[in-house]
Amino acid sequence: MRVVKKIKEMKKIADQLRKEGKIIGFVPTMGYLHEGHLSLVKIAKRKSDVCVVSIFVNPLQFGPKEDYHTYPRNFKRDKKLLTALGVDIIFYPSEKEIYPEPCLTSVQVKKLSEGLCGRVRPGHFEGVATIVTKLFNIVKPHIAVFGQKDYQQAIIIKKMVKDLNFDIKIIIAPTIREKNGLACSSRNIYLNEKERKEATVLYQSLRLAKKMIKEGERNSERIIKEMKKLITTKSSGKIDYIEIVDAKTLAPVKKISGKVCIALAVFFGKARLIDNILVQSG
Ligand code: AMP
Repeated sequence: MRVVKKIKEMKKIADQLRKEGKIIGFVPTMGYLHEGHLSLVKIAKRKSDVCVVSIFVNPLQFGPKEDYHTYPRNFKRDKKLLTALGVDIIFYPSEKEIYPEPCLTSVQVKKLSEGLCGRVRPGHFEGVATIVTKLFNIVKPHIAVFGQKDYQQAIIIKKMVKDLNFDIKIIIAPTIREKNGLACSSRNIYLNEKERKEATVLYQSLRLAKKMIKEGERNSERIIKEMKKLITTKSSGKIDYIEIVDAKTLAPVKKISGKVCIALAVFFGKARLIDNILVQSG
């Protein structure tokens, strides 16, 4: 296992690997790794010859009032976990290495970035698309794995890769959850014991929505109303949004048909948790 901190070195390694005909699998992360990240790494490893994981907390994707400075970091622990999994390279650049001067260029994926989290986090997905583009140009992967946990992000990256003709296959991997249903997230560290227990209501509400659809309900408003009721009666969570959108276009749907994504963001204390579920409505 090798830790690479410089862009020049990472590019040189990637060029050499490609020359040797090796398939490069890539998992971009912000570190503070959990089972969700590790599941992506396992997939990337299975599908490639050389597995690269990047760890970089990207300032561009945080709003001025968000948690960039307090975002949890623990490189030593991350390195241990990735070594145990047999990762070949950790790309671990400093902020100065990635942004030596103000970045005047950005990548914007319109429409898909405008709803859901994009509405409440202006500029977030532009920051994500820009850093992912930079990382793709540095790591030069053939395959990159993203989590369904951040469904909007994964769809945006897929569209960006298609629109800009990147030669990279994007894989969307399932959401990994704790036994109680809570989706693994680096931000779960912000939760106290009570909030952690209460936050299990998020997955319960998504399951309830799925059940309603499977039983024939097609009215999004009625489903969202029931989800809100469940969350507010069973927890102290403050709902940021709950939406039902088309799984491909992310456009809100009033009357459910085809494949939909039910997505939510809820605050528990200072933690803003997101989760979603995909449902085929028959
Ligand atoms: P992050 O470090 O939060 O930027 O996440 C890095 C990658 O891990 C992204 O592709 C996320 O979608 C993915 N990820 C985060 N949490 C989970 C989870 N619980 N299950 C699966 N993938 C996840």
